[in-house]
Amino acid sequence: MKTDLLQKNSQEVKSIAQSLGFEFCGIAKAEKLVEEESRLESWLNQKHHASMQYMENHFELRLDPTLLVPGAKTVISLMYNYFQQARPKSEKGYKIAQYAWGKDYHKVVKKKLQEFIMQLNQSIGQVNGRVFVDSAPILERSWAARSGLGWVGKNSMLINKKKGSFYFLAEIISDLEAWPDIPDTDHCGTCTACIDACPTDAILPEKNINSNNCISYFTIEHKDKIGPHMSGKMDDWIFGCDICQDVCPWNRFAQKHQEPKFEGPKNNLSKTDWEEMTHEVFNEIFAGSPLKRAKWEGIKRNILFNKKA
Ligand code: SF4
Ligand code: SF4
Repeated sequence: MKTDLLQKNSQEVKSIAQSLGFEFCGIAKAEKLVEEESRLESWLNQKHHASMQYMENHFELRLDPTLLVPGAKTVISLMYNYFQQARPKSEKGYKIAQYAWGKDYHKVVKKKLQEFIMQLNQSIGQVNGRVFVDSAPILERSWAARSGLGWVGKNSMLINKKKGSFYFLAEIISDLEAWPDIPDTDHCGTCTACIDACPTDAILPEKNINSNNCISYFTIEHKDKIGPHMSGKMDDWIFGCDICQDVCPWNRFAQKHQEPKFEGPKNNLSKTDWEEMTHEVFNEIFAGSPLKRAKWEGIKRNILFNKKA
């Protein structure tokens, strides 16, 4: 009887996910991620998080969702497509990671998660929990892998066997009990395409990234001058970097997203447009965009650093 109820809840969760546009949804039991502990500890000890001090905070919360949400029984993992298009090899101009071409995904996806909880309350009854989209100390990729949505690739991204890795990940941690999914297995095999393509050797052997060498880190999170060791290696990226996703063979299955809020003109600007852009024009074009995280000063610094190299 209990099994029937758990399976019914699981079906209901997946049906709501689909109705809200999440292409993939998986469920895992809320419990400590024991096997992630030493990996996270070693990454932090080796200072591979660079200046992202916040990564050192809430170590236990990152590993255990029942500390983050007391009474939690289940972690629901969701994938929301942001793939725009295969990047042309001859692309000219400064480059922005595909996830940032449209409106800020935090707002777009969070709204859907709130709607998700409302629908759960209507169909199943009172569900207490919290929703997350890149917004709290959660090992999102590990949860997505545990929930059967894919595996963490050598490039550290969550890769889905049917559609690749150009997805936002989101989670609902709640006291809902539901039938868990079976974790996927690793399908990277002997491939090393992402490691070979990374221009700065930022991909570490244990499926982690050394932020001290990563273009994505430098163009978004780093607030100071960019180190000379990155000179000539930024490849015109000014916000994020998609190289290790673009070369992943599983992304040949990627299909364009269906979210109108992710459409935007940001990939059509010429180098001159960027170099001559004023602060006011930046604010106007990128209102509500993820680029605001790097701020105008950060984007300008990234343009100049690429130009000088
Ligand atoms: S985002 Fe770019 S720089 Fe960072 S690991 Fe991937 S390919 Fe290398
Ligand atoms: S490029 Fe190859 S090794 Fe890298 S994540 Fe994709 S499948 Fe794995």
